[in-house]
Amino acid sequence: MALQEMEPLDLWYIEKFSENWGLCLRIKKGLYSGFSKLQRIDVLETEEFGRLLLLDAAIMLTEKDEFAYHEMLVHVPLLTHPSPSRVLVIGGGDGGALRELTRHPEVKEITHVEIDEKVIQISREFFPQLSVGFDDSRVRLRVADGVKFITECPGESYDVILVDSTDPKGPAEGLFTPEFYYHCHRVLKRDGILTVQAGSPYFQQDLLSRVFKSFEKLFPIARVYLSGVITYGGMWAFALGSKTYDPLGEPLRELSGATFRYYTPQIHRAAFVLPRYLEELLGI
Ligand code: SAM
Repeated sequence: MALQEMEPLDLWYIEKFSENWGLCLRIKKGLYSGFSKLQRIDVLETEEFGRLLLLDAAIMLTEKDEFAYHEMLVHVPLLTHPSPSRVLVIGGGDGGALRELTRHPEVKEITHVEIDEKVIQISREFFPQLSVGFDDSRVRLRVADGVKFITECPGESYDVILVDSTDPKGPAEGLFTPEFYYHCHRVLKRDGILTVQAGSPYFQQDLLSRVFKSFEKLFPIARVYLSGVITYGGMWAFALGSKTYDPLGEPLRELSGATFRYYTPQIHRAAFVLPRYLEELLGI
């Protein structure tokens, strides 16, 4: 049989969320595979979800559903704070969080601390619609370890801190410790807000519970909220710690003229309503 008459191979990428459960994405073709000094990086073209970014064979994002994660990571704390002027982002080398952040005109200065420059390069090359934020003049990029950066940072420097990290393995392990959160709290201004990705409420319950306990110890207002991100296995959790402003308080700010695909003021409030099993897990 001539090569052009052959059926294309039926290629699938399988992400195992546990030993017994996973997610399958049909793959059109591989676009990039390589190693940075810290991790393996792959970009695949999928049939259904657009481009897929993997770090050390773990799904970071797909073009189809990344908005559900990035909009909720960013706009919930940003629209809770009445005047978020200085913002620190740790991780998030794909640029998705920056893209959402740069939509806020109140934000005057963004410090972005990403440990792996190669992730930024790859995102600029393969995810141009995600990495637009890197070109915003308010962004100051630091290629550094977020743990070291926060430890050395002067107190009361930022209005909002966002942690968009990989799972607590390898370089990201230190971004999930009580010491790291202590420094985030110290580095926040007196009315600052910290938001972090806190894992899957199904498959990473120990992690979510640990993160929430640390937040409860540090912040007068500590909450968990959810978003639906299909390629993260369904629901995804964020932890929010606030020194003054309650994300469920009145009034919420609105971003004039903005069109979001996931975030609405109603979703903002609804995201904090947790299923009973999570209330039990978190002891609330
Ligand atoms: N939303 C994604 C998820 O949860 O699957 C995470 C996206 S983003 C690509 C995660 C970024 O955190 C990566 O680019 C990684 O290099 C960066 N990172 C990991 N550990 C870090 C550290 N200690 N300091 C700064 N950035 C770090």
